[in-house]
Amino acid sequence: MRIIRLEALSDNYIFLLHDSKHNIAAVVDPAEAEPVLKKLAELKAELVAIFNTHHHNDHVGGNKELIQHFPKVIVYGGAEDRGRIPGQQVFLQQGDRVEFGDRAGDVIFVPGHTRAHIAYYFPPATFGELGELFCGDTLFAGGCGRLFEGTPTQMVSSLNKLRSLPDDTHVWCAHEYTLKNLQFALTVDSENTDLQKRFDEVKVYRSRGEATVPSLLGIEKRTNPFLRWEQPSLQSSAKSSEPVQTFARIRGMKDKF
Ligand code: ZN
Ligand code: FE
Repeated sequence: MRIIRLEALSDNYIFLLHDSKHNIAAVVDPAEAEPVLKKLAELKAELVAIFNTHHHNDHVGGNKELIQHFPKVIVYGGAEDRGRIPGQQVFLQQGDRVEFGDRAGDVIFVPGHTRAHIAYYFPPATFGELGELFCGDTLFAGGCGRLFEGTPTQMVSSLNKLRSLPDDTHVWCAHEYTLKNLQFALTVDSENTDLQKRFDEVKVYRSRGEATVPSLLGIEKRTNPFLRWEQPSLQSSAKSSEPVQTFARIRGMKDKF
């Protein structure tokens, strides 16, 4: 399974999964149809699945047009998103599995950004490969999604599920927000040398116009303030010794950053 990153709208990424053996493709969070159709034509592949993480328009905006071009495509989304995702046919819950070609992905229920948000995790197919996590707007490189429909308690529990995956996991998040996220992270975790190093690297990548997605979960665990609610440095910035309150206060500071 090859993963192709497509740019969409102002800062969205769409991920196209390509199985060249079966000549099929799937797409994660098609913000718009046009870049997907273009790449599918280039690959001469048939679109068999749309994996949506949540109902926001910058994640499902391309569904309708893709269904028109590929009437047999199956549209997946969270069970709680019933009625909010155009064309949705499969309603997924924590622990469900999805299949694409020879690969299977686990569904992780991660409410917080929205009340219905799910993530898809494809474990390594063979020993030594990396797992692939498609986490929408829940976990970002260096940040996390805003809490539109969920509570800090829910979001901490959701992020904790993602944090429990192996360090060697690609994090395919849906937006290029990394530089701004790390700028904020430094204000609440200023002594973190891994974070300082990452910020310097990301500055260089972005100045060359390069993408910072996917990132690695191991790096997120060391540098992302929204996975570090037990760290003394973050608790001191949040003036709290309680994990959920630490997360909530740091999230509140980011909302105003
Ligand atoms: Zn969203
Ligand atoms: Fe989004």
